[in-house]
Amino acid sequence: MDETKIILTDAEMPTAWYNIQPDLPEPLPAVLHPGTGKPVTPDDLAPLFPMALIMQEFSPERYIEIPEEVQSVYRTWRPTTLHRAYQLEKALDTPAKIYYKYEGTSQAGSHKPNTAIAQAYYNKQEGIKRITTETGAGQWGSALSFGCMFFGIELKVYMVSISYHQKPYRRIMMEAWGAKCVPSPSMDTEVGRKMLAEDPDCPGSLGLAISEAVEDAVSREDTHYSLGSVLNHVLMHQTIIGLETKKQLEKAGAYPDVIVGCIGGGSNFAGMFLPFIKDKISGKNPDLRIINVEPASCPTLTKGLYAYDFGDSAGLTPLMKMYTLGHHFMPPPVHAGGLRYHGMAPIICHLHKLGIVEAQSAHQLDTFKAGITFARSEGILSAPETMHAIKVTIDEALKCRESGEAKTILLCHSGHGHVDMAAYDAYLSGKLTNYDYPEEKVKQALAELPQVPTD
Ligand SMILES: *Cc1c(COP(=O)(O)O)cnc(C)c1O
Repeated sequence: MDETKIILTDAEMPTAWYNIQPDLPEPLPAVLHPGTGKPVTPDDLAPLFPMALIMQEFSPERYIEIPEEVQSVYRTWRPTTLHRAYQLEKALDTPAKIYYKYEGTSQAGSHKPNTAIAQAYYNKQEGIKRITTETGAGQWGSALSFGCMFFGIELKVYMVSISYHQKPYRRIMMEAWGAKCVPSPSMDTEVGRKMLAEDPDCPGSLGLAISEAVEDAVSREDTHYSLGSVLNHVLMHQTIIGLETKKQLEKAGAYPDVIVGCIGGGSNFAGMFLPFIKDKISGKNPDLRIINVEPASCPTLTKGLYAYDFGDSAGLTPLMKMYTLGHHFMPPPVHAGGLRYHGMAPIICHLHKLGIVEAQSAHQLDTFKAGITFARSEGILSAPETMHAIKVTIDEALKCRESGEAKTILLCHSGHGHVDMAAYDAYLSGKLTNYDYPEEKVKQALAELPQVPTD
């Protein structure tokens, strides 16, 4: 029998992140200034981000060194373990070989500290004292609280209101690490006050919380903004996941046929698949399948339009070419709060448009059913976001049972669900429901896309 846990030592942890940009078959579409329609310059972004991160956003370098201070914090939990899912394989009676990379062992419980640590570090280097950000289910807010704590930076988190109330424990985690957290929409910004005046019961959305955090950051000299997903540099920081996994699979003498992950803004999954997709683009492994999984109620890649849109709901951010449901789209309140986003990482959208990656959507009840199967085999109580990837991993493994093929399936397991017990309770007591694709609301939001050149 092969190893059940494939482990790397501290010394084997990769020391550089991988940047896909020089290896893309076609360059990414430009990011546009919303006022002029011209490509944004580094100076346009300087009020929001440190210059080191802005340079990474547009970098043509294939590898970027991970600073030693960042590596040393990474080593408090990394490298993470790659597991062979023998118990799940047995439960499914499948000939498939299932591996999962488990990012739930970080102190915040997900992959998000991989970029939070790096972002806090570069802001500190530039003398920034305070950061603002948004959070959905609270995963990003807690991860950035953890990162800011290491580098002595003050943090204010705008947390999507529905999650703030459904999931108080992540707010408490943020406070324990020293951050301040308010429900979004809040009374602390212009955008928030306007929204609350229109709809006092507004459940909020990631897009709206981003607007609040950006407004706060640009209004203060000592403050920057930080985004937990979507942007090129965030995806690059997450490639530590895929780079470690590649080494681990080499140790196991394996290579994936299928890689599966869940996508909210796309960072955990891109972090896993980008180091592998290099092999697909170069023709070394042309048959590699990469499956992005999203909620049926917020199906950006499977139902959205490939167009220029804002990253936030108020229209404060630069325009990015991406699959979008429209920046005014307010996704239904599924428990996978981290997947409730109208847009998607431009890198993933570009690869999808080029036909290099695929996408599927899953209904909430089916994802919980899969999550429970995983809990009752491998034992891990997964985050509702991760359950989307587990659902499709199980589908693929069951297809192997039908066909008798022993495919190698690699699952990016983005985090645990220990703070999502209320959602588990709702599912186990039969109270959880599905949310259908809100076609009318999307149609309405897509009618309000900004007017810019599209090709
Ligand atoms: C935030 C989050 C996601 C979604 O964000 P991505 O940027 O798409 O990775 C997925 N899983 C978990 C556990 C999360 O916390």
